[in-house]
Amino acid sequence: MKQAVFIERDGVLNQVRVERQHQVSPLTLEEFHPEQKAVSEIKRLKAGGLVVIATTNQPGLSRGYQSRRELDRMHALLRRTFDLDDLLVCPHDETDRCPCRKPKPGLLVEAAFTWHLDLDRSFVISDKWQDAEAARAAGCTSLLVQSPWVRTGHRDFVLPDLASIVDKILGLKGATRVMAA
Ligand SMILES: [Zn+2]
Repeated sequence: MKQAVFIERDGVLNQVRVERQHQVSPLTLEEFHPEQKAVSEIKRLKAGGLVVIATTNQPGLSRGYQSRRELDRMHALLRRTFDLDDLLVCPHDETDRCPCRKPKPGLLVEAAFTWHLDLDRSFVISDKWQDAEAARAAGCTSLLVQSPWVRTGHRDFVLPDLASIVDKILGLKGATRVMAA
């Protein structure tokens, strides 16, 4: 069974605008800016033998303000920039009560099935509590970049930046049992 790193898209792999203390997802290719300083960090994870999978909630698909075609163009750019193994999208609105909208763990569980992953030995990187909660529910270790969206729920590590998180994952990767800090 393989080990994976699940990475939240908005705020980690691409830049986001912040309005009234909320992150605003880009809706067009013109607004979509991959985070260039993350490129070398994702390469280090791949070189460490981890399956790298981006995950994202995009309720705009269900609510009608995000076009599928434009999302596909953004995601083609994301895949070219980061050499991702997979990219999983929850297209639903909260009111759809789907199993995949984070903080629910559906995207992680789906990926585990597709990629033959050991979720107990896999990792989640994000700047938001919803991903830490999905990680907890799926049995993954969560590592959050310090941000206004970390809040106070369960998480395994909060670190200042992506480089520190990648260092931590590569250090933990071989360990048989992950101890929270
Ligand atoms: Zn969903």
